[in-house]
Amino acid sequence: MTSQATRVLVLNSGSSSVKYQLLDMRDGTRLAVGLVERIGERASRLVHTPSGGGAEKRERTERIADHEQALKAVAGELARDGIGLDSPELAAIGHRVVHGGPEFSAPTLIDDAVLAEIERLVPLAPLHNPANITGIRTARALRPDLPQVAVFDTAFHSTMPEDAARYAIDTGTADAHRIRRYGFHGTSHAYVSRRAAELLGRPPEELNLIVLHLGNGASASAVAGGRCVDTSMGLTPLEGLVMGTRSGDIDPAVVFHLERVAGMGTDEIDELLNKKSGLMGLCGDNDMREILRRVDGGDAAATLAFGIYIHRLKKYIGAYYAVLGRVDAVVFTAGVGENAAPVRAAAIAGLGGLGLVVDAELNAVRSGEPRLVSPGHARVAVAVVPTDEEMEIARGTFALVDA
Ligand code: ADP
Repeated sequence: MTSQATRVLVLNSGSSSVKYQLLDMRDGTRLAVGLVERIGERASRLVHTPSGGGAEKRERTERIADHEQALKAVAGELARDGIGLDSPELAAIGHRVVHGGPEFSAPTLIDDAVLAEIERLVPLAPLHNPANITGIRTARALRPDLPQVAVFDTAFHSTMPEDAARYAIDTGTADAHRIRRYGFHGTSHAYVSRRAAELLGRPPEELNLIVLHLGNGASASAVAGGRCVDTSMGLTPLEGLVMGTRSGDIDPAVVFHLERVAGMGTDEIDELLNKKSGLMGLCGDNDMREILRRVDGGDAAATLAFGIYIHRLKKYIGAYYAVLGRVDAVVFTAGVGENAAPVRAAAIAGLGGLGLVVDAELNAVRSGEPRLVSPGHARVAVAVVPTDEEMEIARGTFALVDA
């Protein structure tokens, strides 16, 4: 790598989409942001936004048959802006990989052995890892000489003690099938806890934080001294909080009941709990903006859905308070956490006994910056910290290649 190589291309490959960002790690500038979606369909769409210089967003719709074509199209757009994949300034490509299993606890330079290991983890994340692998293979074929790094959603949670990471099931069965709690959204929890420490003006090592990542998917984590000690997602992202379309925690016997009494098959139940449950299952909407509008209008189903969502959130705040013993801040992030003031207010309401209070005026402020929403005298801070998973992936990637 040449010393002027300071750029990292971050790729987040899904089954029919590729999201990308090109970042310059000298100063964290975003040089380009884009997305290819509906890969493999007749009308695939590419949206490319170069940053700086007042450049316009470019958008086109055409058939993009597979990930290889998608990445070539992305490379073409970047080349048009003079920041192509062959630029000597490109230091590495960072790939988001959803499941790192028990093996990966940090960003990892990809070679054939690492790729094979990620493939071995496919049974743990059958919907996500195959697409991530396709992205890696395609990028390696395009730039075989360039360092490529895998950054895992599970890695930040690998510090969880066994007490938190194990399910209370037969140990032999659990070990044989690698069943344990892995947690997800790790890059977000890592980024947000570090930024929260900066906001509070204290070293991460001194702080106990409860981080609430509330997007369409949602998870909570307890972070002690910069290390994750518990998180709400488990073997898969289904466990924990009520989400846009996922149920979160339920009695596992609901599954047997649906099999025996409703005659449903495994795939059908999987789809029910992952895609047709949560806010969507409860009220037919998974967008918190719409739900809040309906709650304001007195809609009963939306009000119940909101109530269940908030009740679960409060339970996790209480649980993680107990896990940590002392809490310095509760931090909200992601689409709902950053934007939905009523969700923050409702989740913290009634927790004054724990030192948690929200200041209505501060909470109503709309901003893209990290900020406190608790009053100055509060015993425990309540904060909003916008997440930036791409920046965290780029950071982890660059740290490995800039040695
Ligand atoms: P993901 O990355 O999990 O798809 P995001 O973190 O982007 O999700 O969050 C998306 C969700 O954020 C939307 O489904 C919507 O419910 C919520 N959201 C976005 N903006 C607002 C807003 N202004 N008010 C309330 N909720 C919002």
